[in-house]
Amino acid sequence: MTDLAARPTTPITRYADRLAAAQRGVAARGLAALLVGVGPDLRYLAGYPAMALERLTMLVVPARGRATLVVPRLEAAPARSCPAAAAGLVDIVTWEESESAHAVVARLVVASAARGTPAERLSVAVSDTLWALHVLRLQEVLPGAFESGSTVTNPLRIVKHADEVELLRLAAHAADRVVDSIATGRLVGRTEADVAREVRDRLVAEGHDSADFAIVGSGPNSASPHHAASDRVIGAGEPIVLDIGGPLGGYGSDTTRMLWVTGGDPALGPTPEFVAAFEVLHRAQAAAIAAVRPGVRAETVDAAARDVIEAAGYGPNFIHRTGHGIGLEEHEDPYIIAGNAEPLRTGMTFSVEPGIYFEGRWGMRLEDIVACGRDGPDVLNLSDHALRVVAGT
Ligand code: ZN
Ligand code: ZN
Ligand code: ZN
Repeated sequence: MTDLAARPTTPITRYADRLAAAQRGVAARGLAALLVGVGPDLRYLAGYPAMALERLTMLVVPARGRATLVVPRLEAAPARSCPAAAAGLVDIVTWEESESAHAVVARLVVASAARGTPAERLSVAVSDTLWALHVLRLQEVLPGAFESGSTVTNPLRIVKHADEVELLRLAAHAADRVVDSIATGRLVGRTEADVAREVRDRLVAEGHDSADFAIVGSGPNSASPHHAASDRVIGAGEPIVLDIGGPLGGYGSDTTRMLWVTGGDPALGPTPEFVAAFEVLHRAQAAAIAAVRPGVRAETVDAAARDVIEAAGYGPNFIHRTGHGIGLEEHEDPYIIAGNAEPLRTGMTFSVEPGIYFEGRWGMRLEDIVACGRDGPDVLNLSDHALRVVAGT
């Protein structure tokens, strides 16, 4: 269904630019190197989507000189074929099963430093998702200070290039189609878990690499924002929070829509209380989106949603931030939250997802992924925001 050939690809020059920018960041912070383990930073800098393992794979980006990808010997082939290595932007060093990979990394860090610099003077940044297992072993062989790698990589990753925004848009549209098909299918009498399985299957069928989450919160479960789909059977006359997503070409989708299932009985439509709250939620979400433009602080977008919800008396029921950045990670900078004064810039991408929750009774949330465009919001999701009142039979 998804036209794979139409997907934007990352040009190789982009990896060269990213590596150079990371290296400048390393030098500017007075670090000896940035040590990037398997995860989103490695994918961003080298295009290498390896699996995190106890065997160390690590990109060493020194303050000066070439970057090196240290990989287990048995993974040399996939490492060599990643975009940055294939284009000769990084060197590959393999380590043998009997060797200490961490010592290999330490030698590279020391070798890249000015001659004679003692190891304890060499500070490094390590990528935020590197396993503690590896961090602890690196600390044994590198006695210098360690800091968080996101100080180097987040400023780069926070602003998306146009082709990254297009991948997020493709992911959003694919998730929109899944929402629409679930909303028009049978729901009453099925368990949340059964519907969640269908969501996951459809996300993949629509082109996602994988389905990361499928929140199906029915009835009182709708009041728990991160509800895990359970064996609860969906009944007629109740709301469903549908919050689904996963990566497509590495970039995440994440959208929430509200359903109300009647079982075909008009008497089991949404209660006036629910409809009234939904109207407020819908206005709050639209207000937050409308606030998006370059120069506006992230916290101002949060306030735009919160003001509407507070004015209607639901303030205490909006129990989370308005949104989170999204890209190679489902949750990343910028966070749309009170206290985040970071001004939005063109190319920042994030969710706008206010909610109203009454614990034990019902809850609701609406979520879109929005890119900050040059003149205002670029909403990546297209599916209808209205409360979907469906028979579900
Ligand atoms: Zn979500
Ligand atoms: Zn979200
Ligand atoms: Zn709307």
